[in-house]
Parts: sequence; C-alpha cells; structure tokens
Amino acid sequence: MGFDTNSWADPSTTFNTKEIRQEIEDLCLPADHRVFHDSKLVPSKVNIFVWRALINGIQTKEALHHRNIVPNPMCPSCGTNNESPDHVLLNCERALKVWHAVFKWCNIPINQTVTICQLLKIPASLPVTSDTKKLLYAIFLTSLWCIWRARNDQIFNAKTKDTTAIIGDIKSLAYLWTKYRGSSNNLKWRTWVKFVV
Ligand SMILES: [Zn+2]
Repeated sequence: MGFDTNSWADPSTTFNTKEIRQEIEDLCLPADHRVFHDSKLVPSKVNIFVWRALINGIQTKEALHHRNIVPNPMCPSCGTNNESPDHVLLNCERALKVWHAVFKWCNIPINQTVTICQLLKIPASLPVTSDTKKLLYAIFLTSLWCIWRARNDQIFNAKTKDTTAIIGDIKSLAYLWTKYRGSSNNLKWRTWVKFVV
C-alpha cells in the first residue's frame, strides 16, 4: 500500500478557521482561558487582538525580550513591572484609570481584575439581560483594543493620550461598532454616553 490519498480527497473533511482556532485553544490554553468568544459586535481585528493577548501573543516588551529582540522586559510607562499583556492592558496606572472609568460608565461595581481572563468573565456574571451582557463584553474588547492603541501611539508616534481621551475613543468606537453591527440600531448617542441602553 502506498500513500493513502483518500483522506485528503474525502469531501467530508472540511476545515474552517473557527474549528482550527478551537483546536489550537484546546491544545494551548488552560481551561480557565476559554472564556473568550468572538463578539459579532466588534470587528474581527479586535477579536483577534484580544485572543492573541490572552495567549501572550502580542508584542509586549516582555514577549520581545523573551525572543531576545529587546534588552529590557520592563513596562516603558511605569518601569516597575514587566510589560505583559495583563500588566499593560489592565494593571499599569493608565490602564487602571481607564478601567475605573469604564466600570463607572457601565454601572458595574469597581472590580480589581488582574487578568484579562478574569475581566472577560465579568459580563456573564452580572444580573443584566443577555443583550446587555453582549454589549458589555463588546465594550471590554473595545477597551482593551483602545488601551493597546494608546500604548502604541505613545511608543511609536510619541503621542500621549490621557484617560479622558482613551475613554472618548472607547465610547465612540463601541457605539459605532455595536450600533451598526448588532441589532441595536435604536441606540442613541446621548443615552449611550450615560449607558442607558
Ligand atoms: Zn506599567
């Protein structure tokens, strides 16, 4: 018997990226990390970014140091901790301020989350409707995206954004994305900014 080509020709053998990604997650991630799911309310680039952050796959100083690309793993913003995804996106001073403001805006009790994994579990744990849970999850993904973008702007473009500007980005991007991607076309900006949804 030679090389069996039947398995390759089998029409029942189909692949899609979602299944492949699930396979990778099952192999790579502790069960606790499977809190991530794609949100239809944000662009795929945002879903992919957060998924990569969860598996330590974004180009933080710590990751670059690990690959011998930069000499120092420390956070360029505070200089007191390694710049890991959890640190830069949640626990560094600027990120903490942003999260306090996001939680306040969304009427969620201030929660000292220390990992992205813990953060992503919060919407499902709240006593709100399933639509609001989806909205909060999308806002969290958008917030992670905006914090990372502000970090990159500071490092690569020497542009510094304060907490107010980052929150402004989060509110406007999350509004545009959820309004036009979801079934919430009746969202209004003036109520959105008070999180009356
Ligand atoms: Zn820091």
